[in-house]
Amino acid sequence: MRNKALVYVEINDNRVEKVSKEIVAHVKKHFTDTELCAVLVADDQTIQTIIPDIKDLGLDKIYIIQNILLKHYNVSVYSSVLSQLISNINPDVFLMGATCDGRELAPRIASKLNIGLTADCTDLQLDIDGNLLATRPTYGGKMMATIISKTKPNFATVRQGAFKFSQQQFLEPEIIFFDADYCGLDNLINQIEILKTHKKGHVQDWAEADIIVAGGAGLKSKDNFELMYKLAELIGGKPAASRAAVELGWAPQNLQVGQTGKSISPKLYIAFGISGALQHMTGVSNAQKIIAVNIDKNAPIMSIADIAIPADAIEVINALISKLSN
Ligand SMILES: Cc1cc2nc3c(=O)[nH]c(=O)nc-3n(C[C@H](O)[C@H](O)[C@H](O)COP(=O)(O)OP(=O)(O)OC[C@H]3O[C@@H](n4cnc5c(N)ncnc54)[C@H](O)[C@@H]3O)c2cc1C
Repeated sequence: MRNKALVYVEINDNRVEKVSKEIVAHVKKHFTDTELCAVLVADDQTIQTIIPDIKDLGLDKIYIIQNILLKHYNVSVYSSVLSQLISNINPDVFLMGATCDGRELAPRIASKLNIGLTADCTDLQLDIDGNLLATRPTYGGKMMATIISKTKPNFATVRQGAFKFSQQQFLEPEIIFFDADYCGLDNLINQIEILKTHKKGHVQDWAEADIIVAGGAGLKSKDNFELMYKLAELIGGKPAASRAAVELGWAPQNLQVGQTGKSISPKLYIAFGISGALQHMTGVSNAQKIIAVNIDKNAPIMSIADIAIPADAIEVINALISKLSN
């Protein structure tokens, strides 16, 4: 019998989260003999704008849970309706992105369904018996553990950028509307206002940029980070940081790349004053080209980078800014 994989396609600001498309593309490519299904949760107006965006992903079925109560993400309501759908259609595998919402939703769904959850995976495969082999870093990123859950559906969240998304043309998926039970769900959380924070130059989807310019403890100060932001802007890239730089207070946590930050897959990653610890490099393993600028030619990143420049990062940044400004 064919396996059935269900992917929660997350919607934010009227657009599909890239990680959802990455998961669908990965399942399509690597899970043989599997019926590939997606579930959308939103109000009817949002659903209408989203369907064209996911129709050509190669899905066999799209389950739609639509209601005015689902207009804005609400963890209680979303976890309830998703659990209801899963109980109803019994997929073998259920997957979602390890986004902010996904990290909040997943444990609640696992608890409601009394199933296991493998969080923050970087690889997923199916064994010959149809069990999900969910791989994630462990022991502080020193080892990769592959976990097989004993409960069904096998449930995992996936890190953003862990898989590559490639657009393809496929046949029309079957669309199925699911009637959830909203009894008692409308007054669990009273949403007063939705606030969005956008800092100048730090767009929310920076992790999807083609060029990412990152700084580490080797940048020495917050002022030098500001210089790096300027350089990133001049070359049309987005800034990022190592955990050491975040802990030093030079960059916000939402710019952190690595095991406990974001996974990214830019065409070009430029690292200034970053040593290249395993926990950092886990987040850039899908970068197409890496340029590292480090004063220490023996720093681990120098042997991983495509171009390793043994130099003072601040001098290089200043030189590039003056060249590009002219
Ligand atoms: C469980 C766990 C999770 C973690 N998660 C993450 C994570 O998500 N992301 C992450 O980044 N780290 C993470 N870490 C931390 C990680 O192990 C490293 O400590 C961290 O990445 C180091 O950051 P860094 O390279 O900026 O700093 P350092 O290791 O201090 O390296 C600074 C580098 O700058 C160079 N340098 C110094 N001066 C200059 C100069 N003037 N010009 C050029 N180069 C210079 C030095 O030679 C050195 O190589 C995690 C650790 C653990 C245990």
